[in-house]
Amino acid sequence: MRVAALDGRLCLVGGGSRLDVETASGGQFGPDPMSAFYDWESFRAWASEQDLTTGSPYRPEQMTCPVPTPGQIFGIGLNYRSHADESAMEVPKRPMVFTKFPSAISGPYDDIPLVPGSCDWEVELVAVVARTGRHFEHAEIGHCVAGLTVGQDLSERDLQLAGDNPQFSLAKSHRGFAPIGPEVVTLDEFENPWDLEIRCDRNDVNVQRARTSQLIHDIPSLLVYLSSICELRAGDLVFTGTPSGVGLGRTPPEYLEPGDVLDSTIQGIGTIRNRCL
Ligand code: ZN
Repeated sequence: MRVAALDGRLCLVGGGSRLDVETASGGQFGPDPMSAFYDWESFRAWASEQDLTTGSPYRPEQMTCPVPTPGQIFGIGLNYRSHADESAMEVPKRPMVFTKFPSAISGPYDDIPLVPGSCDWEVELVAVVARTGRHFEHAEIGHCVAGLTVGQDLSERDLQLAGDNPQFSLAKSHRGFAPIGPEVVTLDEFENPWDLEIRCDRNDVNVQRARTSQLIHDIPSLLVYLSSICELRAGDLVFTGTPSGVGLGRTPPEYLEPGDVLDSTIQGIGTIRNRCL
């Protein structure tokens, strides 16, 4: 199942066709894309019985953010060994956790307004939380993840790494610094949801490429760990970390410039394309 938002309305998509959820469900589910995640088990059961061949065509430009108002966004740092190495930092034993404040969220084809400083790219696999609760256990993680999507954890490095007062959360929360999409894809759509090619291309030049099986702390472990401390809520997002190839790790470092186009792609999910302004 592929869940998307078209012109801000919750839809199921597939095979170039879309089904408007509010219309098709006779109002059982509202048009707000978040309503799918707030009532995930019912939504999933209803959606699994829908016939997308009765849907209508759409244009990709109609796609807006599929999870537009998450309550919480967790970010994980240094979760691929290759990125820890290029950052000249030790791999942390426990997940390194920060937040991207939810006001940074944006859509799969939205522009990124660059800010003064050193703006950098980080393609990431993003998990969407399916239920509200604490102390999730490994055995139930399949029911705790609504699906997977593609994200960019844009980061302004000067503030992020500022001397004795580093500001990971603020530096990653500028307007438009958390584009996600284009769709939320349920785990059953993948042959192996934990082993997907992930890549980022800057102006059609490949800059990051890895597999999500290289995550040090995988999604089940992250949800178990995070929920041992915080209540996780339906519709929350977890940005799982980026592989090597970011601008900071280059010699000399390279940062985003106005006019740059970032294509961030994960196998089986799709590509988000964001232009820098
Ligand atoms: Zn990141």
